[in-house]
Amino acid sequence: MKKGAFMDFESAKKRAKNLREKINYYNKRYYVDGVSEISDYQFDRMMKELKELEEKYPELIVSDSPTQRVGSDLTEEFPKVSHYESMLSIDNTYNYNDLIEFDDRLKRLLNKKDFEYVCEHKIDGVSINLIYENHELTHAATRGDGEIGDDVLSNIKTIPYIPLKIDTGGVLEVRGEVYIDLRDFEKINQKKRKEGEEEYANPRNLTAGTLKLQDPRKVAERKLNVFFYAAGRMDELDINTQNEFMIWLKETGFRINPHYQKVKNIEEVWSYCREWEDKKDELNYLIDGIVIKLNRFSYQKQAGSTMKNPRWSIAYKFPAERAVTKLQNIKIQVGRTGVLTPVAELKPVSLAGTTVKRATLHNIDEIKRKDIRINDRVLIEKSGEIIPQVVRVIKEKRDGSEMVFNMPENCPVCDSKVVNIDDEVAYRCTNFQCPAQIKGRIRYFVSKDGLDIENLGEKWVDKFVEEGILRKYSDIFTLDYDKLIKFEKMGEKSVDNLKKSIQKSKKIELARFINALGIPYVGKKGARLLAENFNSIDEIIEAEEKDFMEIEGIGKKIAESIAGFVKNSQNRKEIENLRSILTIKKENTKNKKFEGIQFVFTGSLKSMSRKKAQQKVENLGGYSTTSISGNTDVLVVGENPGSKYTKAKEKDVNIWNEKKFLEEINSNMEEK
Ligand SMILES: [Zn+2]
Repeated sequence: MKKGAFMDFESAKKRAKNLREKINYYNKRYYVDGVSEISDYQFDRMMKELKELEEKYPELIVSDSPTQRVGSDLTEEFPKVSHYESMLSIDNTYNYNDLIEFDDRLKRLLNKKDFEYVCEHKIDGVSINLIYENHELTHAATRGDGEIGDDVLSNIKTIPYIPLKIDTGGVLEVRGEVYIDLRDFEKINQKKRKEGEEEYANPRNLTAGTLKLQDPRKVAERKLNVFFYAAGRMDELDINTQNEFMIWLKETGFRINPHYQKVKNIEEVWSYCREWEDKKDELNYLIDGIVIKLNRFSYQKQAGSTMKNPRWSIAYKFPAERAVTKLQNIKIQVGRTGVLTPVAELKPVSLAGTTVKRATLHNIDEIKRKDIRINDRVLIEKSGEIIPQVVRVIKEKRDGSEMVFNMPENCPVCDSKVVNIDDEVAYRCTNFQCPAQIKGRIRYFVSKDGLDIENLGEKWVDKFVEEGILRKYSDIFTLDYDKLIKFEKMGEKSVDNLKKSIQKSKKIELARFINALGIPYVGKKGARLLAENFNSIDEIIEAEEKDFMEIEGIGKKIAESIAGFVKNSQNRKEIENLRSILTIKKENTKNKKFEGIQFVFTGSLKSMSRKKAQQKVENLGGYSTTSISGNTDVLVVGENPGSKYTKAKEKDVNIWNEKKFLEEINSNMEEK
């Protein structure tokens, strides 16, 4: 039943706004912070509801609605590459009726009663698009935003069985899923545990992180695997069905999943889904569902695609696994910004192949809304590899021993008064010297997003803070190594490694340095904006709130936070301290690859705004004008180019498409 169907416009408008905010929030948590606060199922349900509202009232669609884009995994470090054919995402379903509906829709679209499907395991990994041009593997693109991805070719090449050359000419795109199998995942985590470092949350995160490593030798150690299962553009391959394509893949040397199956109809699809729902735990890799595709390519073409999803394919997601257990206590965690997060301590219970001891409770509002009490029996849910959630309380099982939970008035770590700021749900410890906050800040400062000090893991940070060795960031650079050697489990070799990685971290780009400082609300994006708009950290600490406000993308709240941070005398002293220890450099200032070259742009670029593209040209020493003249060196042509294109041809100007443009500006970044 469509909820939106019975809503009047005003309520629908309100609801849509509410859904957009929620989805954007969870998206940010997932993509930026790496935290899944809700299950995939809950997320998809919100997305579906929003889609339905927007279908009923198209005037509710706003350009930045989460329905209007697909998730992106683009990072700055890799050259960008366009997919020849977009990598669409596949729609999800959760039950038999949805599958029947999918089948009925295809029957109508194709005007046929009988057609075959191919069923495949939905591997919980990272999608990759191998691009072959004239027989040779030239790019390996991550999905990115579906149009443009990161080229991680050198890392993909570490997988020993990837064909580097094929007999087929022209352009061929072969798509697959990269993953790390469960045994290797466990081995890597064992090693992490031994070294006193934080373990990886799940194989998919580890895979995604591995693909983005800058050192292919490290990638090789991680043993990536891949199953291939789809074609993108296919110039010279004469193949008519998915099944034939799988056979071709195997014969050509592309690794495929042996469990895929061609079936006659949707009933057989359903049997396949049920079969693997039962058997999935026997596999040495994680699957979270089944992908169903029309077998015949001509039917696929006929069914077509929406902007985001192909109509000829769908994913059946296994239901989340649930269990009932006792909630024994609610503990408070204090984060680096002082936010207090309640966490449920559970009587250990086995769920989805792991032992679950804790579940996230998000905040006090959530606890009140679900009326969760200590000693309650609770239904918990875990889907895929995300943090378990408390679905609801089993109230019938209450026996009077339950206790209502309230947020503490004092910080459980440092005993300072806790405050609840009006417009926030969050409760905070306001003591800047709170050990929990110091630990959190230093952990972040040395993390991959900060100074990236490889051999200073979280356990050591915690230990050093507890011992009083680390109080502030700059203490890292005055560590007494002779003293550290005496620590249990430390030893000469570890100290030596630590010394080396600290030394290595002393050269740092401005954006990374700003991010490392952990200024509230700033984050990676804010740090990058600051680095782009100021020449040095000195300029930033001298700037005022209004200067920050002038930067596009920085709002009042963030500007206030930065200004407050740099005005604080303690912070200022610490920044000055760090500046004298570190070499902080602004990115790309020395590289003048486009010195004196005149650029003109026409048409729209997929990967960035015109303004951004012009800025990139300027950063590299070039400049741009609006019209073609005898002085023009390069015309960059986007989609729907104007008359400049014909003019440029007459004047013998170099013409670059977007792909070429991206290659030029990115090949440059590699040299930095
Ligand atoms: Zn505290």
